[in-house]
Amino acid sequence: MQIPPFNVREIREQFPALRQKIYGKNLIYFDNGATSQKPQVVIDAINRYYAVENANIHRGVHYLSQRATTEFEASRIRIQKHINARKSEEIIFTKGTTDSINLVAFSYGELLNKGDEIIISAMEHHGNIVPWQMLCARKGLVLKVIPINTKGEIIQEEYDKLLSNKTKLVSVIHISNTLGTVNPVKEMIKKAHAVGAKFLLDGAQSIQHMKIDVADLDCDFYVFSGHKVFGPTGIGVLYGKEALLDAMPPYQGGGDMIEKVTFEKTTYNHLPHKFEAGTPHIAGGICLGTAFEFLSTIDLIESEAYERELAHYAEQVLETFEDLTIIGTAKNKTSVVSFNVKGLHPFDIGTLLDKQGIAVRTGHHCTQPLMDFYKIPGTVRASFAFYNTKEEIDFFAEALEKSINILR
Ligand SMILES: *Cc1c(COP(=O)(O)O)cnc(C)c1O
Repeated sequence: MQIPPFNVREIREQFPALRQKIYGKNLIYFDNGATSQKPQVVIDAINRYYAVENANIHRGVHYLSQRATTEFEASRIRIQKHINARKSEEIIFTKGTTDSINLVAFSYGELLNKGDEIIISAMEHHGNIVPWQMLCARKGLVLKVIPINTKGEIIQEEYDKLLSNKTKLVSVIHISNTLGTVNPVKEMIKKAHAVGAKFLLDGAQSIQHMKIDVADLDCDFYVFSGHKVFGPTGIGVLYGKEALLDAMPPYQGGGDMIEKVTFEKTTYNHLPHKFEAGTPHIAGGICLGTAFEFLSTIDLIESEAYERELAHYAEQVLETFEDLTIIGTAKNKTSVVSFNVKGLHPFDIGTLLDKQGIAVRTGHHCTQPLMDFYKIPGTVRASFAFYNTKEEIDFFAEALEKSINILR
């Protein structure tokens, strides 16, 4: 299978972490599902921020504070444009995907009443399960789970059955971090809206792998983490439709989120500040903007095709192994290949691959209910980014064969 031309060499040169050796071997980084490496421009932006730009934002009269404020807000606008949100006020900076979902679970949750229903799927990350369980316990709501088939696809007929006028929110993963399944979310969003429910899309694994257009998707919330999209850790985004965010009460109280504070009555600031209490991760916010600037230099249609091709190639190579089972064989999948080898523990395989310079993740990938569904303790997961290559997959296959032979 021929991988389409895509200038990987040029892209790889921008990622210094990819140039290092681990145990004397060239690093092969196949743990992009957990976090991505950072391009030099982002690293430089972080250094520059702390070296000469550092100041608190939204309150200073002085030059540095005003410049930091301008850059922070410019980053918000860049992200708004990238995902095609209508207004920059609809972009809320958070700590990451988990934080964004907790914000919605608390704040949108305040608008819900006993007996209301929330729907998630059987392939959700713990970050899109536990906040809803906590909300359901707090407010007496009911959590429903859409089952999946053995290929790792959401069973749409079951989804249809769960939807009703009791459904207030559907919260579903866009691309599975464990299986690589790309869910048909646009249709699912339409169906949710038809019963008057809102839709939260967990984009932690889609923002870095495809062009996202929240207007076209028509999701009510879209959440992601900066660190998985070539930006810093500790920063993430909640996109929400303006009218909905306006109707939601604040999540946390403190500085910056207020309009006026008195001991008798406090009024809240307008969007997006209403949801950004306290000093935010200023460096993170600015440098996430740099990560999106970097992303704008890449043709995301091409890179998506390339990543799908990489995952497909990896599957073809792995299918030649005896006693190896690929977990997740959805028709529409990308970027991730999870597998198990009969009689061997994923952790042992991962450890031996590491000694050969290959970074994969092993375990349940924060999707324990999904592991229960497949009746396995975990998988070995190779997850790709557009800087990975077919040659790396060939080397990985050799290393895997060696590892299996050692363990047998
Ligand atoms: C990583 C991930 C999360 C959690 O992201 P954090 O950055 O740890 O908050 C949630 N959902 C999916 C699909 C993920 O891949």
